Amino acid sequence: MVIPPFYLLVILCHNQQTAVLGLTEDHRLPLKDWAMEEYRDLDTEREKLFHSLRKKIGDERIVEAMDRVPRELFIPSASRYMAYNDAPLPIEMGQTISQPFIVALMTEALELTGQERVLEVGTGSGYQAAILAELAKWVVGVERHPQLIDIARRTLERLGYTNIEIHLAGKTLGWKDGAPYDGIIVTAGAPKVPQELVDQLAPGGRLVIPVGSRYEQQLLKLTKRNGELVKQNLGGCRFVPLIAEDAWDEGEQQSSSRFS
Ligand code: SAH
Repeated sequence: MVIPPFYLLVILCHNQQTAVLGLTEDHRLPLKDWAMEEYRDLDTEREKLFHSLRKKIGDERIVEAMDRVPRELFIPSASRYMAYNDAPLPIEMGQTISQPFIVALMTEALELTGQERVLEVGTGSGYQAAILAELAKWVVGVERHPQLIDIARRTLERLGYTNIEIHLAGKTLGWKDGAPYDGIIVTAGAPKVPQELVDQLAPGGRLVIPVGSRYEQQLLKLTKRNGELVKQNLGGCRFVPLIAEDAWDEGEQQSSSRFS
């Protein structure tokens, strides 16, 4: 097959960009620098996404907060043209940035008013943390990949967030030193509700967590009332596994594209 010179140039640029993906300085380049830009109209896709989220999510503040956070800056350049698809997308270290609808649903379940301290277990790209920072007073993130922490910190700093701290995950799930939290959101799937996280939840606090098998979970909202947990099931979902002593072991590598 003969490839016309223009297409060849695009393919070469694409490959070059893909090769330096991962953990280099330029993987969060502004959209202008990316050749795919001219083929997709992100603004139109963005409008479509938020229109559909407004129909599904009752609390308008959540959708407004999400509308203020540029999702494309949390995604490796190669898939940025899909930033406003309502779909999970791969990020570095074989992990995923969650589907916008799931981000909205989980955030809504935290019932934030602006005064809360919130813990996010599984900070990944930092996208969910940014949305929490728009709606809560203080966000504590925990992530087990130092490389992701580095990338997330840089993205969040670039966007001007000053109410987020991110820590490297230790042996205990969550971040005990910052407890108690009014809200805890776990963005990786667990085999059961981890007691370590329940202990870090303030009275009246909400814990939102996917619980189930390694491949499929139910999204649970647990509210701590009088020392007991009141459970609500928000529906089925698919997250990458929560890796911890009290959860899954590292095991086989999964293809991330199936997960939220
Ligand atoms: N919320 C993220 C996406 C999370 S993907 C975003 O908005 O981009 C799930 C993340 O959980 C992965 O980055 C994975 O490394 C992390 N993770 C898995 N087990 C963990 C644990 N025990 N503590 C902290 N992070 C964990």
